[in-house]
Amino acid sequence: MEKTLSIIKPDAVAKGVIGKIIDRFESNGLRIAGMKKLQLSTQQAEEFYAIHKERPFYADLVKFMTSGPVVVMVLEGENAVKKNRELMGATNPKEADKGTIRADFAESIEANAVHGSDSLENAKNEVAFFFDGREIL
Ligand code: GDP
Repeated sequence: MEKTLSIIKPDAVAKGVIGKIIDRFESNGLRIAGMKKLQLSTQQAEEFYAIHKERPFYADLVKFMTSGPVVVMVLEGENAVKKNRELMGATNPKEADKGTIRADFAESIEANAVHGSDSLENAKNEVAFFFDGREIL
């Protein structure tokens, strides 16, 4: 069993598709082990995306991620990191496979509906960024 972090981003929360996205996880063997709705501060978003600091889109990404509430979740299941990435689809929704979350709900390469940890190591760090042990059930 693995745990991974998922974020339903501000575009998808604003569109009212939280439930539809959660259904993709639950229907595909990923259990919601922790969940909360929050609005990231600029400092939190900068820290969470620090790995992209040198990328040209960093400032825009921080602005977008703080533009409205998000839903952060701990997903648990077999191969949860890879399975979540498969359900999400490619970063650019135009390139995402049919039936993936990004193909169905994302607007653009930036406003792309969901975040998902891209490795088990990053998953551990990202889960710890948002959740303490008592919040994971
Ligand atoms: P992910 O792992 O599929 O989310 O993709 P990355 O780690 O490469 O990028 C992190 C996030 O930065 C993406 O999910 C997008 O929200 C945003 N992003 C990535 N590439 C671009 C880009 O070229 N332009 C803009 N504006 N945002 C981008």
